[in-house]
Amino acid sequence: MTEIEVLKCLNHPEREAVARCPSCLRFFCRECITEYSGKVLCSSCLRKAHDAQTRLSARSWLSCGTAAAAGFMMLWLIFYSVGRILASIPQQTHGDTFWLSVNHSPPISSEHE
Ligand SMILES: [Zn+2]
Ligand SMILES: [Zn+2]
Repeated sequence: MTEIEVLKCLNHPEREAVARCPSCLRFFCRECITEYSGKVLCSSCLRKAHDAQTRLSARSWLSCGTAAAAGFMMLWLIFYSVGRILASIPQQTHGDTFWLSVNHSPPISSEHE
C-alpha cells in the first residue's frame, strides 16, 4: 500500500518523481525537469518546444522577407508605370514635330511634284 503512490522518474527508475511534464504527461525527477517560459517541461519536450519556436521565428522571418519583396515589386511597378506614362508624353510631341518637319521639308515636296 505504501509503494503504490510513489511515482518514479522516466529516466531514473531509482529516483522519485517530483513533477509531471504537461506536454508528454510523464513523471520526472528534479534533475530531468526544466522550467521553460513559465512551464515545467522534461528535457525531450523542452528540446521539441525550443525547436518549434526556432522554426516559428525562422518562418516569420521568411514571411517578412516575402512581404518586403512584394512591397518592393509593387513600388517598382508603380514607378515603372509612372515612368512609362511620363516617357510616352514627350515621345508623342516629338513625333508630331517630326512629321510636321517632314511635311514642310523642301526635298520631299519637290520630289513629289
Ligand atoms: Zn515531456
Ligand atoms: Zn530523472
